Amino acid sequence: HAPAPLPRVRAEVDLAAVRDNVRALRGLARGGAGVMAVVKADAYGHGMLPCARAARRAGADWLATATPEEALAVRAAGDTGPLLCWLWTPGGPWAEALAADIDVSVGGAWALREVIGAVHAAGRPARVQLKADTGLGRGGCAPADWPALVTAARAAEAEGLLRVTGVWSHLACADEPGHPSIPPQLEAFRVALAEAERAGLRPEVRHLANSPAALTLPGTHYDLIRPGLAVYGLSPAPELGLPREHGLRPAMTLRAALAGVKRVPGGHGVGYGHHYVTPGETTLALVPAGYADGVPRHASGAGPVLVAGKWRTIAGRVAMDQFVVDLGGDPAEPGDEAVLFGPGDDGEPTAEDWARACGTIGYEIVTRIGARVPRIHL
Ligand code: PLP
Repeated sequence: HAPAPLPRVRAEVDLAAVRDNVRALRGLARGGAGVMAVVKADAYGHGMLPCARAARRAGADWLATATPEEALAVRAAGDTGPLLCWLWTPGGPWAEALAADIDVSVGGAWALREVIGAVHAAGRPARVQLKADTGLGRGGCAPADWPALVTAARAAEAEGLLRVTGVWSHLACADEPGHPSIPPQLEAFRVALAEAERAGLRPEVRHLANSPAALTLPGTHYDLIRPGLAVYGLSPAPELGLPREHGLRPAMTLRAALAGVKRVPGGHGVGYGHHYVTPGETTLALVPAGYADGVPRHASGAGPVLVAGKWRTIAGRVAMDQFVVDLGGDPAEPGDEAVLFGPGDDGEPTAEDWARACGTIGYEIVTRIGARVPRIHL
């Protein structure tokens, strides 16, 4: 047999990096705090089930997803460890989630009512983690409503309908060192915990720290850190330094095989809108990955790609399935490799480089890699 041709574009995911990152995060968690590895959104594009398995193998005490459907998929793959999902939506598969021993987050009276309503169908008491809005202003219970929520949850606990296993919150600006919102959020969390305790709740886990807080704010670690991005080896913000400064290694490398190479004269318009025109006779290479694969259209004229040993800038617009780079005088062949991003160890750009080129964050670069790009787990 001839070897199978390489996929047009592929995302290689180094599961050893995921495991090492979880171990590194365990090592920096303060005072024996555990690790809740966040595997939502297909593990930030890295493939949820293999990454969940890798994280557990490396000692992740908890896993977390956004939606109950994601958490149910983790369970369906055989995972039996502590698992939280937090994105409450009305009419979600709550009875199934409770029956599968998934902790559900509750951030308001209406969610508490719905979870209690699902307990009978689930056939077992719910495991509930109460979420306080300590200042992010997104999900979670507003401070004014918190005393009533903890009181109602305690009453339901006393009736045997549920157990409050956790109290938690999320930080707004942990990726901006010294941001003035951080101390008030910490204080609001202390107040929320004290009120939960006063109501008679004894949660097993209290947690607050996303990746930036896990890496830089040990005072937020409580019983668990709750990193997502750092599990995949990326740094949450340029101000927080490079991944390796925290002992992390990017897990994903996005590669493509050149789909065409051609010589063209100067003055040749390239791509929709002719936003690039060849300055002289040159060689154009076609990279068969486009915005349907997650290459941001904002990377047009900006995104860096390693081709034939050098960084090239995307020439003209990114199209749905492909874009072009100008190789100048350098030779290349169809089938040669283009590396869009990776750990950066072999001279390739990183997801952070892409984020900078597109005016976004590394989170979005990896998470939006398209469904039609095969993930190859190494
Ligand atoms: N906790 C919550 C509630 C989140 O929504 C997220 C991700 O957005 C995380 C933790 C993980 O954040 P990060 O990827 O910055 O570690």
